[in-house]
Amino acid sequence: MNGQGTYDAVVVGSGPNGLAAAVELARNGQRVAVLEARSTIGGGVRSAEITLPGFVHDLGSAIHPLGYASPFFRSLPLEEHGLEWIHPHTLLAHPFDGGTAAVLERSIEATAATLGPDAETYRRVMEPISADAGRIADFFVGRPSVLRHPLALASSGLVALRDARSVAESLFETERARGLFAGNAAHSFLPLEQSPSAMFGLLLSTLGHAFGWPFPKGGSQTLADALASYLLSLGGELYTDTLVRSVEDVPRTRTVLFDVTPRQLLDIAGQHFTERHRRGLKRYRYGPGIFKMDFALDGPVPWEAEECRRAGTVHLGGTLDEISAGERAVARGEHPESPFILLAQHSLFDRTRAPEGKHTVWAYCHVPNGSTFDMTERIEAQIERFAPGFRDLILAKSAARPADLERWNPNLVGGDIIGGSMDLRQLFTRPMPRLNPYSTPADGLYICSSSTPPGGGVHGICGYLAAKVALRYLK
Ligand SMILES: Cc1cc2nc3c(=O)[nH]c(=O)nc-3n(C[C@H](O)[C@H](O)[C@H](O)COP(=O)(O)OP(=O)(O)OC[C@H]3O[C@@H](n4cnc5c(N)ncnc54)[C@H](O)[C@@H]3O)c2cc1C
Repeated sequence: MNGQGTYDAVVVGSGPNGLAAAVELARNGQRVAVLEARSTIGGGVRSAEITLPGFVHDLGSAIHPLGYASPFFRSLPLEEHGLEWIHPHTLLAHPFDGGTAAVLERSIEATAATLGPDAETYRRVMEPISADAGRIADFFVGRPSVLRHPLALASSGLVALRDARSVAESLFETERARGLFAGNAAHSFLPLEQSPSAMFGLLLSTLGHAFGWPFPKGGSQTLADALASYLLSLGGELYTDTLVRSVEDVPRTRTVLFDVTPRQLLDIAGQHFTERHRRGLKRYRYGPGIFKMDFALDGPVPWEAEECRRAGTVHLGGTLDEISAGERAVARGEHPESPFILLAQHSLFDRTRAPEGKHTVWAYCHVPNGSTFDMTERIEAQIERFAPGFRDLILAKSAARPADLERWNPNLVGGDIIGGSMDLRQLFTRPMPRLNPYSTPADGLYICSSSTPPGGGVHGICGYLAAKVALRYLK
């Protein structure tokens, strides 16, 4: 790996972090190639017609508050490369039995108005964080700026480090507000009694108020394609169907950035690391997996609660108690009877996703890592509970267990979609405690996937920060 080679940098893997790393290197004048194992690029950001012709499904990520807010993506001319964001009017609906729903709207005021006696608390908590959201996002890419509400933010920071249940119960008195908070907190993949699940509850609402919860027109794939198109315009190169089994497979280059998780990194390049580094990577922990379903429907989902019919995302699981019981069961290695479901209904807002009058639904629930259990029946029953008549509309469906997902993308170890557990310890020290988390003991070898800070989600910041480190070495 020493000396001037054919490339300055080779990136292994074309997920959003791999592409982000490649773009940052290329726009700094480096000669870059991306090697992707699969026949299509994008990693967790891909779309395809997997049910019926004309129905475009997101095979991985679906809703992109992080992608839209990402200061790195915002600095790129992605719209010139085909990306168009669609903003649903109502970001999220969270239905309860009896046909009512709490909602997350763009405005704090409109959201608070649906929370009854918790309206004032919601406003008090959300206003200062949302006003500073852009500045907080800039901090992640190394651009600190003066905050408008430093004291309120410090106190929110302390709240964020707590568990979601105690925060929901101490802040809110109604089931509606607690349920809404619990649904967002469950994105952490942690039991709601575990820290820092509250962080995800606060983060997702904040992003919604400050930026929205948009998605790319035509499918998530258009985000990956826009990144790839921009990379090519900068002179970067992309090779699909190129599985890297060992670092020796990589063409001559001065640096390699791996958009893979620690388990794969050990297989590919472990022989170049110190024993201590290998031990650290072996200790890396993966979180629960998911069971994913895509539906082609004969019409829109017949939600009982009107709010759900105008929301881009719907969280199904009812009360704080019910959601927390489900997530606790998953952590114990069990499969909840009544799983918490994250559901997106793009075709309500994006007519390119399905033929005229028809619709798509994207949904998943959490399951134990590596689970082989078929959750189809339970997912459908949960949707039917809040939308009677849903099953009658199904024209075709596709289901993916953790092993199917891992075959599709080797980074989804045991079905874990966030690149490893984001509990308190591993959130800040991924992939292992180390001053520079993107570097390895081997000169010129870096890790740039979501198994590095700031972690899972489509934002490209892991790739961007890893590229910055590699650039310092290259220059
Ligand atoms: C079903 C699902 C739903 C999700 N929903 C959302 C969502 O709504 N919003 C959101 O923000 N995030 C969501 N995520 C998470 C998000 O997709 C990931 O956090 C993100 O894609 C991680 O990006 P990455 O670049 O680190 O890795 P990945 O996107 O996983 O990309 C890694 C790439 O590396 C390639 N690769 C791996 N090993 C090798 C090798 N040895 N040689 C060559 N290539 C290799 C893989 O094929 C893959 O293309 C979801 C993920 C999934 C799977």
